Amino acid sequence: MTQRILAYGRLNDDQLAKLRRDFHVDYFAHLDSPDEPAFRAALREAHGLVGASLKITPALLDEAPQLRAIASISVGYDNYPVDELTRRGILLCNTPDVLTETTADTGFLLILAAARRAVELAEFIRQGDWRSSIGEAHFGSDVHGKTLGMIGFGRIGAAVARRGALGFGMRVLYSNASPKPALENELGATRCELDELLSQADVICVTVPLTPATEKLIGRREFGLMKPSAVFVNIARGKVVNETAMIQALKSRQIQAAGLDVFEQEPLPSESPLPFMTNVVALPHIGSATHETRTAMAQRALDNIRLALEGERPIDLVNDEAWSPA
Ligand code: NAP
Repeated sequence: MTQRILAYGRLNDDQLAKLRRDFHVDYFAHLDSPDEPAFRAALREAHGLVGASLKITPALLDEAPQLRAIASISVGYDNYPVDELTRRGILLCNTPDVLTETTADTGFLLILAAARRAVELAEFIRQGDWRSSIGEAHFGSDVHGKTLGMIGFGRIGAAVARRGALGFGMRVLYSNASPKPALENELGATRCELDELLSQADVICVTVPLTPATEKLIGRREFGLMKPSAVFVNIARGKVVNETAMIQALKSRQIQAAGLDVFEQEPLPSESPLPFMTNVVALPHIGSATHETRTAMAQRALDNIRLALEGERPIDLVNDEAWSPA
């Protein structure tokens, strides 16, 4: 029997054609809502799901009785009920590694743009306000030679820190669940308690996954510990930060600036003040959004789903417990 894959993330023509050689594929290039009847119909028949940015709930799983594997086109898997998938014997795969460097580039883009006020000053020109040499009122802060505090020191955290230490001569502090001695040797990084990092770092960058332990990890108390000159960057997940507390800290200039790729609610609601604040650089969750990386992520997800449905161990298995070799 030909197995059925329901794909709702961006695949290129070549990837889709290859997949269709071996599987029946229901492909939704744009999925506005999982309530679409055609999507629900395909879900009922699907053995595999490939996609991104869709919240998978137990109720949705109830409508997918044949489902054996999900390949998310993302490294973060906070959109999936992992324990529930494991209980049902459904494999969950993600796409680590292939997006690490691109996402770290986005992190550094935000660090530099926020510290040097790049968006605010580009807008200053666009508005026709550049009529004489700029003065102190428009100066930013140096990034090179400063202290970089990494909250989360996994793949992406290390890649951001590598850029800071090796490219910008920064001292690196990190707060992470486990120590990383190899990275300490490579980058001269020092592990410390979160509070110490917050009070010492000039640039703070968040790269922890969203879990019950990290939800609202950074709130009013934590912003209160930061230097008034601190630049705060979040490329992880919006819900790791208490957004109300962050807005307050930025408005009152308790901290200098923020660079944000992720938000509590995405797309960002129109009433959010964040994109309009001069000391905020806000991007629409573009961490991994380059042609090269999105193609590589989709390919990795396709490799994972193919292996899973063929009874082989996928390359990137999130819930090992669900794996039982044939
Ligand atoms: P990773 O390699 O698993 O790194 C995550 C790090 O966070 C690990 O070192 C882990 O510690 C640490 N950690 C986990 N829970 C923690 C806690 N409660 N307290 C302190 N440290 C904790 O993952 P990654 O590939 O770097 O990706 C990180 C996250 O970035 C993803 O989960 C995703 O949400 C986000 N992301 C965003 C974008 C974007 O478009 N903006 C793109 C890609 C990823 P251990 O090493 O001890 O386990």
